[in-house]
Amino acid sequence: MRIEEELKLDFKDVLFRPKRSTLGSRAKVELKRTYKYRHSGRSSESVPIIAANMDTVGTFEMAVALAKHEMHVALHKHYPVEDYVTFFNDNNHPVHRYAFYSLGITDPDLEKFRAVRNDTGSNIEFVCIDVANGYTETFLDFVKRFRESYPTVTIMAGNVVTADITEALILAGADIVKVGIGPGSVCTTRKMTGVGYPQLSAIIECADAAHGLGGHICGDGGCTVPGDVAKGFGGGADFMMLGGMFAAHDESGGEIVHQHGKTYRRFYGMSSDVAMEKYAGGVAKYRASEGKEVILEARGPVEHTIQEILGGLRSTCTYVGARTLKALSKCTTFVRVTQQINEVYGRAV
Ligand code: 5GP
Repeated sequence: MRIEEELKLDFKDVLFRPKRSTLGSRAKVELKRTYKYRHSGRSSESVPIIAANMDTVGTFEMAVALAKHEMHVALHKHYPVEDYVTFFNDNNHPVHRYAFYSLGITDPDLEKFRAVRNDTGSNIEFVCIDVANGYTETFLDFVKRFRESYPTVTIMAGNVVTADITEALILAGADIVKVGIGPGSVCTTRKMTGVGYPQLSAIIECADAAHGLGGHICGDGGCTVPGDVAKGFGGGADFMMLGGMFAAHDESGGEIVHQHGKTYRRFYGMSSDVAMEKYAGGVAKYRASEGKEVILEARGPVEHTIQEILGGLRSTCTYVGARTLKALSKCTTFVRVTQQINEVYGRAV
């Protein structure tokens, strides 16, 4: 047994230190980023925020809403083949430019991808190879084989939280490594297994490892407010993935529930009992569920939330003197804090 004594940080442990700047208006802050990917050789230009590949977040409707702002969606993996084909072939309405096709590493996942790919060709630019535990040899082998088969697809793969495996994944063929174990809003991994890593430190350490190799990272999970999204970018994330912050909107999917005259939507983890009942015929005997379900007050169209997140980010940039999102991490000094939000009147919603 060993103990690492070095302090590791979550979003709640820091604030940005404001800095003098010559920036005029926050409206001038450029949030778009251009990336060139190490393996696929492709480039992208977008606002690098991704809605999570959960069936109550990463929907076609969400893709359309976010694409208007040049933002991404990782589509959940439970639509029928024909629906993906229609979506990725819709050239009148090319939202698919920003969409990630998500898959796990099982044979049926791969067969489904092949079927969709057959009928959509190079319209799928991004894939998200997603497993709960990205530390297995099987996963690394899968990424390697997938890269060999699809040399020009931009691959995001995860989840992991440490530098060593980030490097291994990039060398195996990943362009973007997805970072986060246990911080998610409907995740119970830390409770059920005791495994995890404070998310801001995971982002900082994995970004450093990835950037040294010409790779990219996506911070996944744990953002509860726009300031957390900014902290992820400040820590060096190239992309940030959000689940809960995009849940419970008109575009999110998720069953509607009416209670006491109010409208709610169901939102649940993809390893929760609910998701496993729905897609895998129940929780297998050898495992425990690592996600939970919550019922959230319905939040209407996602447009307002998008504006809040982008407005927050622009404002962070002006406080620290960054003209562009690209410059944010260079302009970032975090101060460690023991309290950051005054909750005397309760938690703001
Ligand atoms: P959020 O933005 O809601 O805090 O986190 C979203 C992320 O939580 C997802 O992108 C995914 O990585 C993770 N996640 C989604 N469902 C589950 C689950 O059932 N269990 C665990 N451990 N993580 C989940």
